Amino acid sequence: LAIMERFEFKAEVKELLNLVINSLYSHKEIFLRELISNASDAIDKARYLSLTNTELNLAGTEWKIQIVPDKDAKTLKVIDNGVGMNREEAINNLGTIAKSGTKDFIETLKKAKETGDINLIGQFGVGFYSAFMVAEKIEVISKKIGEEKAIKWRSTANGSFEIEDAEKEGYGTTVILYIKEEDKEFLDEWRIKQIVKKYSDYIGYPIVLSTTKDGKVKEETLNSMQAIWLKSKSEIKPEEYNEFYKHISHDFNDPLETIHYKVEGTNEFTALLFIPSKKPFDIYYKSPKFGPALYVNKVQIMDACEDLVPPYLRFVKGVVDSSDLPLNVSREMLQNNRQVANINKNITKKVLDTLKGMKKNDPEKYKKFFVEFGNVLKEGIHTDFERREEIASLMIFNTLNNRDKMIDLDTYVENFKDGQEEIYYIVGRSVEELINSPQLEYFKTKGIDVILFTGEFDEIIIGGLFEYKGKKLKSVTKGDIKIKDDDVKDIKEKEESYRPLLDRIKEDLKEDLQDVKASARLTDSLCCLVMDENAMDESMRRLFESMGQ
Ligand code: ADP
Ligand code: MG
Repeated sequence: LAIMERFEFKAEVKELLNLVINSLYSHKEIFLRELISNASDAIDKARYLSLTNTELNLAGTEWKIQIVPDKDAKTLKVIDNGVGMNREEAINNLGTIAKSGTKDFIETLKKAKETGDINLIGQFGVGFYSAFMVAEKIEVISKKIGEEKAIKWRSTANGSFEIEDAEKEGYGTTVILYIKEEDKEFLDEWRIKQIVKKYSDYIGYPIVLSTTKDGKVKEETLNSMQAIWLKSKSEIKPEEYNEFYKHISHDFNDPLETIHYKVEGTNEFTALLFIPSKKPFDIYYKSPKFGPALYVNKVQIMDACEDLVPPYLRFVKGVVDSSDLPLNVSREMLQNNRQVANINKNITKKVLDTLKGMKKNDPEKYKKFFVEFGNVLKEGIHTDFERREEIASLMIFNTLNNRDKMIDLDTYVENFKDGQEEIYYIVGRSVEELINSPQLEYFKTKGIDVILFTGEFDEIIIGGLFEYKGKKLKSVTKGDIKIKDDDVKDIKEKEESYRPLLDRIKEDLKEDLQDVKASARLTDSLCCLVMDENAMDESMRRLFESMGQ
């Protein structure tokens, strides 16, 4: 019994389809990269099953991706013998956008529309839907490994799709594109070869072009199939690194930094890691999917292994290939695996060292990094006790005396005024807002520098740092500051002469204030509010408020 069902695309899919078709037209060719990438992912999963589940009898399968253009029928087929999809999976995977945060997604879409910034769209991995740029109709015939029935999915991108039962011989997926008249270049052999070479050369399975001439089928493998991370650095061109990055990250931008290295010895592994140039929209979500992909001897075990990096380095993308791990490790086993913990430690050090080098040798680039990911990195000050000082040394910020330039803690300390013993800072929403704080008047007259922190969680994070290389960090909005200064010495005398006034104010405002004191901090303003040493700071209060507490 063949059941045919029709479904409406979810609203966000419709919006995405529209956007993709209308904004990415100058990048049409990427549709093939996306389909090949999906085929490769599906084979990764099938291959993993073949090694871990012998009952499925998949050993000896010749994994491959086939591309079949047909100029007469005006169709282009992309065929894989990967894991396949059943009815339910096809409905979910090809009918919704299975990414976290639909609300933010819609917001980002709108922004992308306004600014025409395709990079924003790229963050969502337009993936499968990009094929509608060149196809008026798409059919997907798929049979999931281990299941009896095949299904056929079909859509013309007009708001709905249909699914029905279908016949299919082997496992895997066949995607059939009915190519638009104006896009028939994508049926040309040379064009297909060109695109595959450009974007998909490193794919680990043969991408075979099948053409029929005079009734004879010709097959040609188009890619070199080398796992890029196992090649030596000198053999890899920057463009190849960049394409590989785009493949694994679904990002349209080139990465900001590429880290490729190999560790030998008892705990062997190869890592090819990337620091993106833009932060993904969901970097602050509590999404469980982060970390490099984990491979064991070129077989993908997990596409995002969060045990490989600490959460404060969750922006790092890439691949880690280890030969020492067993193939069928489960997620639970990874969490308690000593080798994985060692790799994590090693990668953490490597990434932090790389950032240190970038900060020293290419400050402009480092600034770009820090603007995007600085707030994520800073979480490490709070969570990685062992490395808190190292991570703190990687912070850059504006200060009272460096409003147009970002400096670091070491530079701040080097520029201490005579008699200064502590590191002063203030936290707020923006540099502009902060420089007018009355709390800074004293520091301005004395020429003492104050760090202007503007990160959303800086109050908590910096508040928890306490000291850096033996120097105390002091918030200028809290408690007493410790400066050897003659002005401060006679403040006690002044306070006595003003005692009646101070007492009067204190009496009048006793509901709202703990104490009223004379201060050497002010030069222009009459008064300012100062927090008790242990009190929650203004921005901390805002943070808790925004969290609904
Ligand atoms: P992404 O690859 O980023 O997940 P896509 O839009 O490219 O997004 O694909 C959506 C989903 O559809 C995939 O995650 C996968 O579950 C499924 N899919 C697409 N193509 C295939 C395929 N050839 N074989 C199996 N599943 C596929
Ligand atoms: Mg994809």
